[in-house]
Amino acid sequence: MKIVSWNVNGIRSLSAGVAATVRSFDADIVCFQETKVSRDALSTDIAVVDGYNAYFSCSRSTRAGYSGVATYCKDDCKPVAAEEGLTDWTNDQLRPSSVGCYSDDTDDIDLKALDSEGRAVLTEFTMHYDDTDFPVVLINVYCPRYDPDNEERFEFKMRFHRLLESRALALLAAGKRVIIVGDVNVAREKMDHCDHATIVDFESAPHRLWFKNLLFDANASVYSQRRFVDVFRVFHPDAQAAYTCWNSKLSARVTNFGTRIDYVLADRQLVEMGAFADCRHLTDVFGSDHCPVLVELNATVRSSQRLPQLCTRLMPEFRGSQTKLSAFFARGKRPADGDTSAVVVKRAAKSVVAQRSLTDFFEQPKKQSTVKSVAQSATVEPNVVGVEAEKSVSSVNSVSSTSNISTTSGIRTDTVDSAAAATWNSLFSRKRAPPPLCRGHHEPCVELIVKKAGPNKNKHFFGCARPGGPKSDPLSRCEHFEWLSDAVKKQEKRVFK
Ligand SMILES: [Zn+2]
Repeated sequence: MKIVSWNVNGIRSLSAGVAATVRSFDADIVCFQETKVSRDALSTDIAVVDGYNAYFSCSRSTRAGYSGVATYCKDDCKPVAAEEGLTDWTNDQLRPSSVGCYSDDTDDIDLKALDSEGRAVLTEFTMHYDDTDFPVVLINVYCPRYDPDNEERFEFKMRFHRLLESRALALLAAGKRVIIVGDVNVAREKMDHCDHATIVDFESAPHRLWFKNLLFDANASVYSQRRFVDVFRVFHPDAQAAYTCWNSKLSARVTNFGTRIDYVLADRQLVEMGAFADCRHLTDVFGSDHCPVLVELNATVRSSQRLPQLCTRLMPEFRGSQTKLSAFFARGKRPADGDTSAVVVKRAAKSVVAQRSLTDFFEQPKKQSTVKSVAQSATVEPNVVGVEAEKSVSSVNSVSSTSNISTTSGIRTDTVDSAAAATWNSLFSRKRAPPPLCRGHHEPCVELIVKKAGPNKNKHFFGCARPGGPKSDPLSRCEHFEWLSDAVKKQEKRVFK
C-alpha cells in the first residue's frame, strides 16, 4: 500500500483541484498539511472526494485559514478510528470512534490550547502483514514553524514536539504500531539543511536535540531506547541534498537550496518486521513550497465496515453529497471530481467562454494562470499535479506583467473570438519599457512588491530574476535592487534627452 504526505501550503492553491490531486497519486492514503482551511470554509470540492473518505482538523485559533491537516483514505482502506488533535480535547460525542491512548499529562489546559491549531489527525487501521493483523495509528502532523525572532512561539513549538512524542509513546505502550507523517519543521542533520554552516549551534538547537532523541540511530555508541525510525534514511542513508522544502520567495527550488523537514517516522518494530518497501521524495510534483513524500508498505489494510465519526461525509452539510461530474457541470460549478483529463478539457473550454470581459480577467488573474497550467501539465501527463510557475509567481509577488500577460494572451488569441481578440490587442499595444538589467548578471530584472510591513509596504521594485541560493554561488540571485519609481524616472530621462 502507498501513503503520500504533502505540505500543500493551502489546499485551495492546488491548481488541479483537490479531487484530481488526491487521485493523481494513486495512493491508499493521502495526508495534507497546512491546508489553511477553516471548518466553516470547508466546501464539498475539498471535503468530499469520490473514492476517498476525508478526515480534517482545522484551526480553532483566532487566525482564520491557518495551519490545518487532512487525511484522505481510499474507500477500501477505511480506518477503524479517527480523531483530531494530540490531546483528548475534542468533544465527547466523537469518543466511540476515537483512537484514544492519551499520555498522562494531556489533561493540561495549556496543552489543549496548544492542540487547537488543527495540527494533527490520527487514523487507526487494522493492518495485515506476515500472516498477522495488528493495529497501526497514522499520525498526520504539522509541527509549528521555527521562528528565531519569537521566543514565546519557540516555546510553543517545543511543547508541541513533546506532546507529539508523548502521544506516540502512549499509543506504543498500548500495543499499537505508530507511523508519523508530515511536516516536522526540523532539519534532522547537517546534510538535511542547505545552509547549516550559517546556523550557530546547529547541532545543539533544542528542536534538533528533541528530534535526535526521538530517532533510533543504529550507529549510536550507546544502545538506544529511541523508538522511531526516519524511514527515508532507511532506504537512502547517504542521499545528499535530498530536500523537501525550498524558499519560494527565493525560487530556491531551481537551485535545490532547501531543507528536509517532511518525514515518515515509524516505530522500530514496524521497520524491523519489514513492513516498509520504499520511501522517496516526489520532487517532480509541484504546486507548493514543499514536495510530497511517498512511502510504500508491504503491509495491507483490512478496511473497516464503518466510517469513523470524524469523516467529512458524516458532517451535516456533506451527508449524501454526490460528486458526479455531470451534476457539477450542469450547475456550472467547478468540478470536484472525475477523471483528470476530463476536468481539464471542460475547465479549459469553460474558461474561453468566461473570459470575454477584460475586467473579469484582471479581477481574477490567478484563476486564469491556473487553468492554463492545468491544461498544459495535465494533457501531457495526467499524473503530474500542479505547476510551480503559478505558485512561484504568486508567492514571490512577481508582477512582471510583460512576460506574464504575453504568455497568457498567446494562449488566448487561438481560442477567443475576434472581437475579444481585438480588445486584447489594443490593450497589449500599450507596451511598457523593458525592465532594467541586474548588476550581477546583466539580465532583465523582475518586478516585485515589498511584502514586509513598514513605510515601503506594497512599493514596487526591480530585483534579479534568478533563483535564490548561497551568496557564494554566482549563478544564483544577485543583490540588484532598484525602486520601480527610480527606474521609470531614468527611463523618462532617456526618452526626453
Ligand atoms: Zn542578477
